[in-house]
Amino acid sequence: RIVYLDGTYLPETEAKVSIFDRGFLMADAVYEVTSVLDGRLIDFPGHLARLGRSLSELSIRNPLQDQDWLELHRSLIARNGMSEGLIYLQVSRGNPGDRDFAYPAADVAPTVVAFTQSKNNLAANPQAETGLRVISLPDMRWVRRDIKTVQLLPSSMAKMAAKAAGVDEAWFTEAGLVTEGTSSNVFILKAGHLITRPLSQDILHGITRRAALRLADEAGLVIEERAFSIDEAQAADEAFLTSASSFVLPVTEIDGIRLGDGKPGPVSRDLRRIYIEEMRRAAM
Ligand code: PMP
Repeated sequence: RIVYLDGTYLPETEAKVSIFDRGFLMADAVYEVTSVLDGRLIDFPGHLARLGRSLSELSIRNPLQDQDWLELHRSLIARNGMSEGLIYLQVSRGNPGDRDFAYPAADVAPTVVAFTQSKNNLAANPQAETGLRVISLPDMRWVRRDIKTVQLLPSSMAKMAAKAAGVDEAWFTEAGLVTEGTSSNVFILKAGHLITRPLSQDILHGITRRAALRLADEAGLVIEERAFSIDEAQAADEAFLTSASSFVLPVTEIDGIRLGDGKPGPVSRDLRRIYIEEMRRAAM
């Protein structure tokens, strides 16, 4: 793979970052993941806008202009000949040359890393046909989940717990209500109402969530942005999750309780199809 590091494109084995980089020592870094279909970027302006917001919330300088971010992404796609997959982008507060809790002086440049991950099953994901089985777990993350930092250990642990339980994913709960998935936003559908937790510092403001809500609204569903419990989700007609890498994926079982007949529901399936069609059309 050809990867990007601080202005240079180079083979992945030659890309080296200092042990003093604050991304490495303190998880002092933010990231974005953008999907690629037909060699083009899906919903890229949304990801750029959220990157800018994450950086600004942490007072990390945005090291590139929007046009440069776009060129960087396109260049990685071209250099790696990727037609379908993901682009991971990370900006850390950089390398101050030593370890210190205080932020370094403004002349320390952020470290920018980006790489491709080729996949051939983003659109043709077999899990869209079978549906996902999920378990619920207490949300152990910090209180600023709206900032997309690389502090991913709680999500990583939850994914391992899901795996150990023999299911596909975990949904986090807090004070009796679902926050989000380990790396996704979650939705339930009941009698034509699409219910999802409102935006706040409790959840990541998913780029796919926003597009899915727009498309669901255009399709005539009633949107209810409010929190819901696992009990309510288990009694729903359908459930699904959204993320840049999984698009819209049906959920068919929650904590051992099957939803409906245990097969992906018609609204979830339609929304996935519409999302992929629309996003392919608007890709850049
Ligand atoms: N919540 C969390 C915790 C996530 O990690 C992600 C994916 N990065 C999402 C939601 C979904 O966000 P998006 O649709 O922008 O990928």
